[in-house]
Amino acid sequence: MSSFEHYWMGTNRDVLSLILELPPVICMSKSVPLLLSLVIPIYNEAQVIPLLLCSLRETLAQRTEFWEIIFVNDGSCDLSLQLLSEAAIDPRIKILSFARNFGHQTAITAGMDFAEGDAVVVMDADLQDPPEILHEMITQYYRGFDVVSAQRLTRQGETVFKRTSARLFYWLMRNMVDARLIPEVGDFRLFSGQAILALRSLREQHRFMRGLVAWLGLRETIVPFHRKHRVCGETKYPLYNML
Ligand code: UDP
Ligand code: MG
Repeated sequence: MSSFEHYWMGTNRDVLSLILELPPVICMSKSVPLLLSLVIPIYNEAQVIPLLLCSLRETLAQRTEFWEIIFVNDGSCDLSLQLLSEAAIDPRIKILSFARNFGHQTAITAGMDFAEGDAVVVMDADLQDPPEILHEMITQYYRGFDVVSAQRLTRQGETVFKRTSARLFYWLMRNMVDARLIPEVGDFRLFSGQAILALRSLREQHRFMRGLVAWLGLRETIVPFHRKHRVCGETKYPLYNML
């Protein structure tokens, strides 16, 4: 880690914006250093978990030691919980475990409620949300954005049906629900502490996180990426669930 990066991690956003001569940012005064929380929903991802942990450890080590990962076990019935429990020997790895499967959006919500970081990243377990772009997301966070959204430029390994239905979904949602929804932005996002507080105040039971974020109208930017295949295992969104 260069000395600049070291200083960067050890300072707050106000100071950094002065160093980089960026426009003034709206941000809470934060204690140093940055604690980064990752929130990851897990539903029958036993095959994926070892690869995920390895990849995350590698990426995070390049950046900071001040991190926590909150895995939300969404009623898995494979070995996911056991694997997570073994990993939780590291106190930075924390587990929330649901009694049954409540669904992806509920799992994300629980993780965001428990996250303690100054910045919180929500990402999927299957490495379709590449940990490498965390670096760029953190850079944008320091530039003063409250929401940094990963936008899919391409989608590998998805069926024509899935791609078409996704396009139709975004078109319908933008035209009939909220034009502020950003196409090809899923739940892979970084939120500032302020954004997390705002989201926590919305207690809708049937949640669509992307809609809530759009509705809040926070200061947001995009980080584009190419979405790869699921690293292994099957999608947890078969046709019926997607509908
Ligand atoms: N997931 C979950 N509960 C569910 C379905 C999915 O927690 O009921 C998690 C899953 O383990 C993964 C993320 O949500 O971390 C996204 O699921 P998946 O990758 O299967 O969705 P896709 O990328 O195929 O849309
Ligand atoms: Mg996936």
